Amino acid sequence: MKRGKHNSKRKFFPMLGPQWHFSIGYLVLAILLLWVWREMLTQFTVHTITYSEFKDYLARREVVSCAVQDDEIDGEIQPQTPRAAPAGRGTNTVVAPLEKSFVFRTVRVDDPKLVEDLESAKVKFSGVRPGFFSQFFVAWVLPIGLIVLFWSLISRRIGAAGESILSFGQSKARLVADKDTGVNFHDVAGCDEAKYELQEVVDFLKNPNRYKALGAKIPKGVLLVGPPGTGKTLLARAVAGEAKVAFFSLSGSDFVEMFVGVGAARVRDLFQKAKSQAPCIIFIDELDAIGRQRGVHVGAVNDEREQTLNQLLVEMDGFEINAGVILLAATNRPDVLDRALLRPGRFDRQVVIDAPDLDGREAILKIHTRGKPLAPSTDLRKVAQGTPGFSGADLANAMNEAALLAARRHAREIHQQDLEAAIEKVVAGPERRSRRLNEEDKRRVACHEVGHALIAAYSQHADPVHKISIVPRGRAALGYTLQLPTEDQFLVTRAELIDRLRGLLGGRAAEEIVFGEVTTGAENDLERATGLARQMICMYGMSAAVGLARCGQPGHAMFLPGADGYFQRDCSEETAREIDEEVRRLLDRSYTEAKETLVKHRDQLDLVAGELLKHETMDGATFRSLIGQALPPGAPAAPVPAAPAPVASGG
Ligand code: ADP
Ligand code: MG
Ligand code: ZN
Repeated sequence: MKRGKHNSKRKFFPMLGPQWHFSIGYLVLAILLLWVWREMLTQFTVHTITYSEFKDYLARREVVSCAVQDDEIDGEIQPQTPRAAPAGRGTNTVVAPLEKSFVFRTVRVDDPKLVEDLESAKVKFSGVRPGFFSQFFVAWVLPIGLIVLFWSLISRRIGAAGESILSFGQSKARLVADKDTGVNFHDVAGCDEAKYELQEVVDFLKNPNRYKALGAKIPKGVLLVGPPGTGKTLLARAVAGEAKVAFFSLSGSDFVEMFVGVGAARVRDLFQKAKSQAPCIIFIDELDAIGRQRGVHVGAVNDEREQTLNQLLVEMDGFEINAGVILLAATNRPDVLDRALLRPGRFDRQVVIDAPDLDGREAILKIHTRGKPLAPSTDLRKVAQGTPGFSGADLANAMNEAALLAARRHAREIHQQDLEAAIEKVVAGPERRSRRLNEEDKRRVACHEVGHALIAAYSQHADPVHKISIVPRGRAALGYTLQLPTEDQFLVTRAELIDRLRGLLGGRAAEEIVFGEVTTGAENDLERATGLARQMICMYGMSAAVGLARCGQPGHAMFLPGADGYFQRDCSEETAREIDEEVRRLLDRSYTEAKETLVKHRDQLDLVAGELLKHETMDGATFRSLIGQALPPGAPAAPVPAAPAPVASGG
């Protein structure tokens, strides 16, 4: 959308810059207006008379002079005697008595005796050729104008594809104004290794000669790889900003067009432009849109994509190593990229940007609270501790949410409570206080959530409970228990996973113990528990019965969230049955153990559930003091789930 306007103008005068389109448009308009004005002027000052009237005037020798053209006669008439308008002529032309001379015009009729009559009346007459201007206009400008108009109408109908008919292969890359992207490395945090790698690129763009003198080859292409929202696009812009060079940015899907060959032309065009602007950076965002492995699919679009990719490969080989053009690309699907793209000499350097760690998150929070008034009591470190697994984009989003919440309270500063509420909103969805539960359901939900919390409290490895709530949130959750790990964790032991399984099943177990009956509320818990159990058995080799063989392929992209727990089975029917049985055994055992724990602490279950019903939410400290488990300060905290993210056991 953002480029549509520019292109539609470009259709008419493809060689000229935008400011020219403007003035040429105005010129044409002015000439048209002038022409219309002239026509109207003559219409009003000139009396149109019929040919027979003209002959009458001529006979009375009242015509002073005239000019004879192919199809009309203009001239001047000096009436001698006043007379009445001739009646019954079937015309309403004014031939009223006129004292003064007037200018006339009449349509010429084929009249061979005209010249004779003019001569006998002693009229000065002359022949006139049609005006150069109007002839030029009628013969050239008008038809060409019509054609162009027609053309543009047609191409607009063809739509986006039509654009490329006229602006053939023009690169859509935009050159960011005054060669400055407005961001630099200070605006990116939590990926110091990536910054360190890219510093070299910046340095080369700034002092190419130092590298050339030593014969060093700088990589032509750097691929930024990482999950969505970790700042890949931001980092690419920051590199251009640091080096103060031009930044051509376009996304992979810009390349992919329906018209075969146009994509390749775009690539060619882009590299030509870039080379003329060296040193500069070409950034291709979402490279996987064009860079997918070739020959996997068939179809017209795919042919086009492959041609585009081929052209990209050719261009990357085409420019010399130290030409001053550096290609950056970003993707979160490095696994689907064509091998040829990754070979040396192309995107041979990969920079991995991962979800930020604790220090990184704190630094990102600092960046995104710049210019936001924070109350002195706020503790960003604590917020960073509570947000493992958050990407930079998540954190930016949460900080904005906090500012919005503070504004809603008409506060002058953002307080810790705003920050925590914002994080919670990002993790569990917005509160829905309007969703009213009846008392019976509320008791069930409270029981269920306290079940989760108690299992967590009595497990050796579970994350500490941060908050319990029975305020409905998001789309489905009627209540939730938030457990926050206190540090990042990259390895998870089997015991920790088993504790997680128990925790997930604790809600259901509590319902069964207290009410003797179960509800639909545990669906999400069961789904996650099953996924986790299956993963333990198939992927991590944690079951003696199935053994160490890995029985599944990750079915989804490695970096896409929500992909854990889903994978394609990769084993025989027999093993599959074995796995199913093992999953069941594992879940059953965990459930039984959870129930045992809860039965043992039944009094606490009732006590906490009662409190929760009164207050609707309860923080971790209150919960622990209720069950007599006040956490010693700075206690070595519990681990993170397999996918390092805060656990909100919904339902
Ligand atoms: P990606 O391209 O990796 O999906 P973006 O670069 O588009 O992610 O990041 C989106 C937004 O999130 C950025 O504009 C920025 O505000 C914020 N952000 C992400 N990562 C970081 C980071 N490491 N430091 C600071 N801000 C970040
Ligand atoms: Mg991006
Ligand atoms: Zn639950």
